[in-house]
Amino acid sequence: MNPHQLLDILKKTLAYDNKFISLHEPYFIGNEWKYVKECLDTGWVSSVGKYVDRFEQDLCAYTGAKYAIAAVNGTAAMHICYQLAGVKAGDEVLVPTLTFIGTINPLLYCGAIPHFIDSEPKFLGLDATTLDDYLKEVSYQENQVCINRYTKRPIRALCVMHTLGHPVDLDALTALCERHHLALIEDAAEALGSFYKGVHVGHKGLVGALSFNGNKIITTGGGGAILTNHEGLAKTAKYLTTTAKRPHPWLFDHDMTGYNYRLPNINSALGCAQLENINHYLQQKRKLAEKYQQVFSAVAEMTFIAEPSYAKSNYWLNAILLDEKYLAMKDEMIALSNQHQVMVRPLWNLQHTLPMHKNFPCMPVTHAENLAARLIKIPSSPQLISERIEQVC
Ligand SMILES: *Cc1c(COP(=O)(O)O)cnc(C)c1O
Repeated sequence: MNPHQLLDILKKTLAYDNKFISLHEPYFIGNEWKYVKECLDTGWVSSVGKYVDRFEQDLCAYTGAKYAIAAVNGTAAMHICYQLAGVKAGDEVLVPTLTFIGTINPLLYCGAIPHFIDSEPKFLGLDATTLDDYLKEVSYQENQVCINRYTKRPIRALCVMHTLGHPVDLDALTALCERHHLALIEDAAEALGSFYKGVHVGHKGLVGALSFNGNKIITTGGGGAILTNHEGLAKTAKYLTTTAKRPHPWLFDHDMTGYNYRLPNINSALGCAQLENINHYLQQKRKLAEKYQQVFSAVAEMTFIAEPSYAKSNYWLNAILLDEKYLAMKDEMIALSNQHQVMVRPLWNLQHTLPMHKNFPCMPVTHAENLAARLIKIPSSPQLISERIEQVC
């Protein structure tokens, strides 16, 4: 094993032709131009228009959620999710330390306190058994509220994250939330197109959030959505994202502090076109993942992260785990690959290690530390299949 090995494998697998290969690129092959042009031609570009409503309906139809509320980005959608779950200033919320900062920032906007938890070692999500044991140790119940024994603060909710598109074990975690009286929130920003036991993720818990940022599985430029099966929460979500304006034909009357978080029509138009082709993207991404899985199965020093048996993953970002023996090579391996125009990335820095998060409660996080040290994300765009691999096969 040498530091060139990853680059060599990727070059060969992806039919490298000296052109830059990114981690995940947008893919426009459908009605994107047509729908966006229609917004420009008609002047309906902003926060009201038929594509906003259609995009929300299309998201419901695709995910099976009863309600979808489009928002300006995934972080804003998460901000609303925390509020819908009743998270208030001074509350603690259990969140994985192994996540993107978009899970954590909106919690701090609410004045709440992240309580960091460990990861499940194989699929990067959360392990219900370990978390249950931990909660038994550090919390007690008081009037059906989970209280942190040491800080005396209420632990209001658990936010799970379907890491790189691989669903967490939602049944086990739902049961855990019921036992400990926690609201279940799903950060499904990476998981549009991922299914848990046949059901789309993001609405098994009380509320969930999607992201349509440029690097996500479909994009609206920037965008997000809140998913829920609860009518009351859906109404509140819509209200909060549209400045909490009371319905009236001309009056601007408000009775709450709301947000200007509504996704504009022009972005929604892009979303409608993208969603029309999601099954094609998913098919391509699955083919790419299968190809990687086959290639890496012959490489003893690297393990490909495959979907859990209970789920169908969107394989948003493919990743490998580097054997512990070769960790000293990891930085050089990543640098070499990027220097040669094949983009690879380490996982995020663990949230509990960031300077502004250092004093928040944190369980022992040995699995998350191990994963963060070993994981490398590799190119995953759906077009890699049709534009490179299939042409040489
Ligand atoms: C992308 C992402 C977000 C935030 O989405 P934006 O649309 O970029 O604000 C939140 N959480 C996770 C885990 C993400 O990957």
